[in-house]
Amino acid sequence: MNHEPILTSKRDILIVDDTPANLRLLTRILSGEGYEVRVASSGKQALRSVESKPPSLIILDIMMPEIDGYQVCQQLKAKPETCEIPVIFLSALDEVMNKVKAFEFGGVDYITKPFEPIEVVARVDNQFRLRELQLQLQEKNLELQLLLTVTQAINEASDVDTALNVILEEVCQTLGWDFGEAWIPNGEETILQSNAIWYREDDNLVDFYHHQHLTFPFNEGLPGRVWQSKKIQFIEDFGAYYPMKSPHFSEESVSLKSALAVPILFANKIFAIVIVYSKNTRIFDQRSQDIFHSIATQLGSMIQRKQAEKLLKKANQELERLATFDWLTQIPNRRCFDEYLFQEWRRLGREQQSLSLILCDVDYFKLYNDHYGHQEGDDCLQQVAQALRRAVRRPADLVARYGGEEFAVILPNTEGESAVIVAERIREEIKKLKIMHSYSNVSEYVTLSLGVSCLIPTQDYSPEPLVYWADQALYEAKKQGRDRVIYHF
Ligand code: GH3
Ligand code: MG
Ligand code: MG
Repeated sequence: MNHEPILTSKRDILIVDDTPANLRLLTRILSGEGYEVRVASSGKQALRSVESKPPSLIILDIMMPEIDGYQVCQQLKAKPETCEIPVIFLSALDEVMNKVKAFEFGGVDYITKPFEPIEVVARVDNQFRLRELQLQLQEKNLELQLLLTVTQAINEASDVDTALNVILEEVCQTLGWDFGEAWIPNGEETILQSNAIWYREDDNLVDFYHHQHLTFPFNEGLPGRVWQSKKIQFIEDFGAYYPMKSPHFSEESVSLKSALAVPILFANKIFAIVIVYSKNTRIFDQRSQDIFHSIATQLGSMIQRKQAEKLLKKANQELERLATFDWLTQIPNRRCFDEYLFQEWRRLGREQQSLSLILCDVDYFKLYNDHYGHQEGDDCLQQVAQALRRAVRRPADLVARYGGEEFAVILPNTEGESAVIVAERIREEIKKLKIMHSYSNVSEYVTLSLGVSCLIPTQDYSPEPLVYWADQALYEAKKQGRDRVIYHF
């Protein structure tokens, strides 16, 4: 889409009439009002004149030889380049039917001859006012459309980078800028890095695009200066902006003339700097600035939202971790054990594969606590937990704290005999810890009793039997003298 200047400053009128006296009179009246006037004395001439340079208004005589005013108007309305030009018909025929026909052919008004200068001026002025209002309305519509698109894009964007890319494209396309870029401070806030870029198809701009892999320090280059000032900067002409040739790649050398650089602030900190460039010299553009302001506000709330989402996600992960981890030993807790056991029971039921369980209990731990104190007891449990983890190797195996000084190991796809080997390895790891336990009746060090069970799950039942038989085996181990592995089969 091409960007048209919004308020047509040009007020040029084409007057078409085959009577020279009429042309002279109308020219005098309208020139006197400050309008730029040109004339055509036939329909053909009028069409040529419009084609070479479309006027902003046409005053068109109806009765002319060869092509009459209606036909001229018809031809103008048929072409997209000229169909928008308002036409005021001019005729000596003061008949209702002619007026109706004039409107039917696309005229916007009608002046009858002989004309009163005041009426002519009033009708022409009126058309220009209408046109202005119409253009303003179109412009407002375009802006609303742009803001709507950008808002939607920001809401849908998964991250800020994506949002910036969409913003650049939409803003440049709608507001007629040729090149857009977004800069973002790096993590240490020492330099600006290019973050998003959009440009119109143009070889020169491709070159300019490549220079964007540069970075800008604080207060250097246009981006760096906006970073420092936190203020909007408008450059009408880079030629005047860099009086001496810039040592860097210059905007001028790729024929970019004007630029608008806008800081996007969030909590009074520069979050990004958006710069748009134009190949034509532009006057300060309040409209672009206003739109950027709205966009910056939206981006700000997007960043805020994303940050809140991030914190929330982190908090949720932490909650999840707290809910499934045992605070003291830093291994999965009973809840996690129950869930995993149930899940594996179901899975291996479908696969008809073995599921093994080891229940471990520290021997004479009450005596340990009583003599060494609760704090020492806690330390001991932590060391035992880590030893258990070392003894278990497959990723699918799960070591959990089952209760006070009891631990459990779930071993999916594992036969009873293999589970016994793991249980023995656990017993060895505990022995290696050499935690003094002078009040134990079985060893000078802390020991474990372990009960092992193994089943091929039946899908109709819960894993209760597996736990029951491991518990029975553990009881048996205690009864037989502790510090041993008993497998129930
Ligand atoms: P057994 O050999 O028959 O297992 O005897 P035991 O003394 O180990 O068994 P009992 O069940 O009588 O005692 C378990 C003790 O474990 C009781 C409690 O003081 C201790 N205990 C349970 N949870 C914790 C804990 O989180 N920290 C500490 N320090 N001790 C705990
Ligand atoms: Mg116990
Ligand atoms: Mg115990």
